[in-house]
Amino acid sequence: MLKEFKAQGTTGLIMEEGLLWETGKKGKIGYSLPPLDVEQKDDLPKEIVRDELNLPNLSEVEVARHYTRLSSWNFGVDTGTYPLGSCTMKYNPKINEQIASMDEFSKVHPLFPEDMVQGPLKLMYNLEQLLKEITGLDGVTLQPAAGAHGEYTGIRIIYAYHKKNGKPKKKMLIPDTAHGTNPASSAICGYEPVKIKSNEKGILSVEEIDKYMDEDTAGIMVTNPNTLGLFEENIREIADIVHKRGGLVYCDGANLNAIMGIVDLKKAGIDVLHLNLHKTFSAPHGGGGPGSGPVCVRQDLVEFLPVPRILEKDGKYYLSYDHPNSIGRVHSFFGNFSVMVKAYCYILSMGNMLKRASELAVLNANYIKENLKDTLYLPYDRPCMHECVFTDKNLAQYKVTTLDLAKRLIDYGFHPPTIYFPLVVHGAIMIEPTETESKENLDRFIWAIKEIVKEAEKDPELLKNAPQNTKVKRLDEVLAARKPILKGY
Ligand SMILES: *Cc1c(COP(=O)(O)O)cnc(C)c1O
Repeated sequence: MLKEFKAQGTTGLIMEEGLLWETGKKGKIGYSLPPLDVEQKDDLPKEIVRDELNLPNLSEVEVARHYTRLSSWNFGVDTGTYPLGSCTMKYNPKINEQIASMDEFSKVHPLFPEDMVQGPLKLMYNLEQLLKEITGLDGVTLQPAAGAHGEYTGIRIIYAYHKKNGKPKKKMLIPDTAHGTNPASSAICGYEPVKIKSNEKGILSVEEIDKYMDEDTAGIMVTNPNTLGLFEENIREIADIVHKRGGLVYCDGANLNAIMGIVDLKKAGIDVLHLNLHKTFSAPHGGGGPGSGPVCVRQDLVEFLPVPRILEKDGKYYLSYDHPNSIGRVHSFFGNFSVMVKAYCYILSMGNMLKRASELAVLNANYIKENLKDTLYLPYDRPCMHECVFTDKNLAQYKVTTLDLAKRLIDYGFHPPTIYFPLVVHGAIMIEPTETESKENLDRFIWAIKEIVKEAEKDPELLKNAPQNTKVKRLDEVLAARKPILKGY
């Protein structure tokens, strides 16, 4: 029946959706105008008149319903629990959105003269000061548009530092738990990535760094806490070795949500750090939406920060270009301003509670870890930070995999966690609940995983054929990426 009445009809309340071309019909129209009360003129020269355009003709209500239904197919942090590891899918307070869309912010043009945009400049300047306060570092640029772009900017700064000192280097140490963007950013800046193995505790050992850090190495890119959700406890000693041998320490700060206001990164030996404002400081993200990846540096690297820098003199904010050692621009204008407004609102409204947010993010992850460690295999059984990583080792006996478990979770109404990352554990299931999930939701999630593991034992086909309660069932993921079928059937 659904097929006959293509564009209409439902499966429960899961709407079927046709293409507008199929719904449209000649003569339908989305507006009505009073009849012409003057003579109609068709006086365009015939040669330049186009044939009828092949566009769908629709009524207003059809258009409104089409787009509203499409919008309901999305799943987001406003819909339900979204425990995507390494992504910090926390709830984004709506007030941030409202303030970012105020005319005073959303309608300023980046080419306005400085004295007309003192407010936005002041906001960016203040945000830089707050990020210094939160991280312990000395200088900030807000230009980079995302984490990976921040990495690129930070490694360029490291490159410029070595070049200025007359000691260009060739290599960059990168732990095996690193996000794929780390080796990519090193390589694009001309450094050969050197993979460092983590130890049996899932963290870097001082001996490994001692073995690989040499005069030809520009430094190390550490993610702390790392992507196994574990704190790199040896960071201070590692930083000392790297510094002693002429290198710099880069920190991928994507996981800052675990340590906001708790760890002083300068004291930990970090020279350059990027943050993901869209993750930690609550801007909606995912699907490639606008991000912001500020880079924070130690005092002696401030001279290399991108221009323009935002400075203040006698209460006036201005753009400063006079920094001869700067790496130059990394983005047009100032980066993604609206994300900065959201982060600024978030930080100011949280105040000292930022620290509490991190504590709760860590507590929530440990709660999940402790409650599921007898159900799923936990490769590193020790206190975790903001996320915990399991594997599908226990499920192999039922011939089901991480992917099957993730797909079945959808039937239980949960967005799946990050899967098959980090690569150092086989069949990884990486869960990051964030601080904004209630205990009730965490309990429901834990219950769902336990139910699914029981199903795996009794009826593994349920997992193999999941999801079932969705509009689109199990996809051939390779085909879906290469030859997507975008019709709603
Ligand atoms: C998200 C993430 C990145 C990349 O950040 P983008 O903003 O997506 O470019 C880098 N490293 C880690 C550990 C991350 O989680």
